[in-house]
Order: sequence, then structure tokens, then C-alpha cells
Amino acid sequence: MRVAIVGTGFGGLSAATAAEKYGLEIVQVGPPRFEYLPSLAKILSGRRRPEDLAVKPSFRWDLVPEKALKVIEEGNKVKVVTEGEVIEADYAVLAPGSEPWMPVQGVLPLYRVSHAREIKRRLDEIGEGARIAIVGSGLVGLEAAGELAWTREAGLTDYEIFILEGAPELAPTLPCKKVRPLIAKLLKKHKIKYYLNTLVSKVEDGKVISKDGKEFDADLVIWAAGVQGPSLEVPCATKARRGFIEVDEYLRAKGCKRIYVAGDASSSKSLKMAEEAMRHGWYAILHMIKEKKEPYEPFLTAQNTICFISLGPKDGVSVIRRTAIPGRLAPLVKDVLEKMMISMAKRAKMRPPIPV
Ligand SMILES: Cc1cc2nc3c(=O)[nH]c(=O)nc-3n(C[C@H](O)[C@H](O)[C@H](O)COP(=O)(O)OP(=O)(O)OC[C@H]3O[C@@H](n4cnc5c(N)ncnc54)[C@H](O)[C@@H]3O)c2cc1C
Repeated sequence: MRVAIVGTGFGGLSAATAAEKYGLEIVQVGPPRFEYLPSLAKILSGRRRPEDLAVKPSFRWDLVPEKALKVIEEGNKVKVVTEGEVIEADYAVLAPGSEPWMPVQGVLPLYRVSHAREIKRRLDEIGEGARIAIVGSGLVGLEAAGELAWTREAGLTDYEIFILEGAPELAPTLPCKKVRPLIAKLLKKHKIKYYLNTLVSKVEDGKVISKDGKEFDADLVIWAAGVQGPSLEVPCATKARRGFIEVDEYLRAKGCKRIYVAGDASSSKSLKMAEEAMRHGWYAILHMIKEKKEPYEPFLTAQNTICFISLGPKDGVSVIRRTAIPGRLAPLVKDVLEKMMISMAKRAKMRPPIPV
């Protein structure tokens, strides 16, 4: 059986590792480098270089280093169409991740290594007194703010950092409600200002303007206010809100028979996190070869949260189910996970720590 795997991130590498284990013929389509997104903020502070987080897996199967444009089902086959090739297989696992959702011009997204590199370049150009607006107080926005605040605390910069949040509360998308008062305290401790009920609608002439007319001076605006589904065409599939690909309980694209969707690209109810993407990729292969018949059981959901938010190398908050623990634990755990995951990616042996 031949399987085409789209994407070389957590979901794609995990699916490929499982496919290799079960003796499937694999063709993987996507960039030749794996990007470790959870540590992107460290590029902004200079604690990591872009090349530390974009590593080359030792693929032991065919890799087509191109972007998939379209995936179609035709009879008992699937076809993955790239600019230069049409790749045929019996099944496909799509794991192209998501893309930044940016309804406002003049802002810089923080979602890929190239984005982090560009933000760092601009910060270095502006200099140590940069006024930095971060739009969104979810995981990405908080970690960027914390990492930049650390450069000030370490005496490397004199950045002025503030977060603009459209919702009436901090971290509205983090499932654990208990964490919010703690985050407010941590932001105060690290001299990161924040403004709630501030829906950014325009960036113009060095000013960030909110929908209700408030204005903020900023030299640079980092956009961390949400993602959307991939711009990959899958004619047999249906797309959910913001373009995520709808899946059934077996992670198959709804409307398709031979196409699975793993990771952030899917509309699955599991959280959009690395652990789930790896579990999706592994499960898709097991279901495809009929090793698993029961529906996919998410591990991380809104009711079962485990996440680590680091605010620089010395502080943060760890959320383990309903308990939130402030302090060094989060950056420590994140450093260990980074080493472990990057090592797995380099060896192209990506396996979910919590089995499916
Ligand atoms: C700044 C940041 C911090 C985060 N922190 C954490 C954290 O602390 N903990 C955690 O668990 N999760 C975290 N996440 C989320 C986590 O990184 C994602 O859930 C995870 O990367 C999803 O894996 P994926 O395989 O679905 O997608 P990705 O890892 O995004 O991989 C998708 C791959 O597909 C490629 N691709 C895209 N389109 C195509 C195409 N058309 N054709 C071929 N290839 C394509 C991409 O280039 C990429 O290689 C963070 C994310 C960000 C951005």
C-alpha cells in the first residue's frame, strides 16, 4: 500500500514514522525542513537561531520538496498535485498545519521560522528602544511578550511591550480559566502592559488603531491573534469555519474515502497542539491499515488541558488539568521537550509520547 503524506511537521512526520513501522510505501510532500514552532519566541530574543529550530529530518523514503496545491480522489486512488508533479497513492494523510489569520495589513505574523526571523531582523533595525505591540494574548502572544520582556530584564534592550486583546479577558482561547488571574499577575511582574476590549482594526503611520478609535504608538506590530485552515484544495472535502478541513470520528476528511487529516489543519475537537498532531498522524495510519477500528480519542481537549507557557527562560505558567503552577517549571519543561522533539525530528522518528 502506498501512502502520500502532505506536510513535514509534527503530524506528517508522525504519520510517516508509523507508515514506515507498518511497512507502507511512503511519499512525503512538503518542505525538507521540520520547524519546531513551540520555541519560535526564542528567536525574537536571540536565545535560538532560526537554524536551531528548522532541522532536516533524515528521510528514509521519497520526499517531494514542494507545496501540495490540490489533493483529489479518483476511483481507488488519491492524487497529490504540486506545481511540478502529480503523485499517485492509495491513501493520503494531510498534515499541512494552519496559517496565520490576518485581517489587518501592516502587521507581522509569528507562525513560522521565517516570520520569527523577519521580526528579529526588524527589531534589530529599530533598536533597543522599540515599542512593540502584540495583538492577541493567547499562547503565542504571551510567549512572545515574555521572551521580549526578558531581553529588557537581562539588560539587552529597553523594549516597551504591550498586548492588545480584543476580548474582555486575557488568554480567552486558553481552555483553563483558572490561569487568567495568574497571567495578569505575571504580566504586571514583567512590566508588560495589556489592554482588553481592544479589537485592532488598522495599523497606520506608526499607530495601531482599535475598532472603537483608541490609538497606540508602535514601531512594530506582532500579530498573534489566530489561525485559519490551510490553503490546500481538497475537492471531496468540506471545510469548516475559517477553512479547517472537516473530519469524521476516524479523522477522515468528511466527504472523502481515502484522505485523512492530521494536526492543526483539521476541525477535530482536540486542541491544536503538537501532541495531538502527532497522535492524529499515528492514528490515521493505524486506522488505514485496520489496526485501529474505534473512533479517534483525543487526549488534549478543552476539559483535559496540559500546557506550558514560558515567559522567557526563568518564568511562566504550567497548566496541568485544573491546576496552574507559576514559575520556572514551564520554561524548564519546554526546554526538555524542545530537545526531545528536535532529536526525534532529525532522526525522522516522530512518535507521540502519549500513545493512541
Ligand atoms: C509560536 C507557537 C507556539 C506554540 N507552542 C506550542 C506549545 O508550547 N505546545 C504545543 O503542544 N503546541 C504549540 N504550538 C502549536 C503546535 O506547534 C502545532 O499544534 C503543531 O505544529 C501542529 O502540527 P501540524 O503537523 O499539524 O502542523 P505544522 O507543525 O505546522 O506542520 C505543517 C507542515 O506542513 C507544511 N505545509 C503547509 N502547507 C503545505 C502544503 N500545501 N504542501 C506541503 N506541505 C505543506 C508546513 O510547511 C509544515 O512543514 C505552537 C505554535 C506556535 C505557532
